[in-house]
Amino acid sequence: MKASTFKYLHAQSKDEAYAAFAEYGDEAVILAGGQSLMPMLNMRLAQPAVLVDINPISELSGIVLLNQQLHIGATTRHVDVANADLIAAELPLIGCAIKQVAHRGIRNRGTFGGSLAHADPAAEMPACAVALDATFVLQSRAEERRVKAVDFFLGVMTTDRRPDEILTTIELPAQTSNDAWAFHELSRRHGDFALVGVAATARRRSEGLEELRLVVFGCEERPRISKIAASTSLSQKDALELATAVAEDLDPMSDLEGDAKTKRIQARTLIQRALDDLFVEGANG
Ligand SMILES: Cc1cc2nc3c(=O)[nH]c(=O)nc-3n(C[C@H](O)[C@H](O)[C@H](O)COP(=O)(O)OP(=O)(O)OC[C@H]3O[C@@H](n4cnc5c(N)ncnc54)[C@H](O)[C@@H]3O)c2cc1C
Repeated sequence: MKASTFKYLHAQSKDEAYAAFAEYGDEAVILAGGQSLMPMLNMRLAQPAVLVDINPISELSGIVLLNQQLHIGATTRHVDVANADLIAAELPLIGCAIKQVAHRGIRNRGTFGGSLAHADPAAEMPACAVALDATFVLQSRAEERRVKAVDFFLGVMTTDRRPDEILTTIELPAQTSNDAWAFHELSRRHGDFALVGVAATARRRSEGLEELRLVVFGCEERPRISKIAASTSLSQKDALELATAVAEDLDPMSDLEGDAKTKRIQARTLIQRALDDLFVEGANG
């Protein structure tokens, strides 16, 4: 199938984009890398009146370290995140997980912010953003809002973003040597969307691990912090029991990739691997 007819705006500034939002309302749709949107247009799952291409707006792209926070511009390509020394040094969880996002050709065009705004429940970056306690900067003509990742994702491809807002920047606290992290994903082939995955962070203390932020993705409608895991001060001997409890607490969606029971079993295995990794300093390179 071919996309239905639409107007195309090559926005040179945020103001040009805001003008289109004002004129067309939610009939104006942002185009970033196009790796999710273009298939949706071609399948006519989306039929917007106008595509607002934000790629020319240079201020929306790039990676900088400011006050121990990584600021990633929304239109930074997946490939540039994957190749950035700053990411490898300061955000190793993202550095590891981004290599699992799609295949090379898609990573060359797809953007970090596009992946978050699209909010596919099986996508890696939303889960990592929640595990890392990221803050999303959303700008409209009238105001700037900062929304925690954990509050941004509302459901399957549904977010807190308003139709007149651009996701401009993603702020992520740099990881330190006291921060443990783990990432595991099960997919049919490397680069495919996850059947199930786990992203986790925790603080290392002499007594064990605290502040565990464990997120299962590809399973429920949105990435969320496991309350059961977060409420526990974790010791290694409890990991198996905790993995079972966290998996039991999930509400997996059955889909073409597997039924709820299968996903729960897959999730339990990955949760346990992630918990094991958290205890081993340097397990993740
Ligand atoms: C074959 C295939 C395999 C894939 N595998 C994976 C995978 O394994 N893991 C994974 O995570 N992804 C995967 N993807 C998706 C890919 O990562 C996309 O790049 C990503 O989901 C969307 O990013 P984009 O820049 O292409 O956004 P677009 O497709 O341009 O936009 C997606 C949506 O986000 C909105 N949007 C984009 N940017 C902004 C912004 N700055 N502010 C507000 N709204 C915005 C758009 O309006 C649109 O609704 C795959 C895609 C394909 C085609």
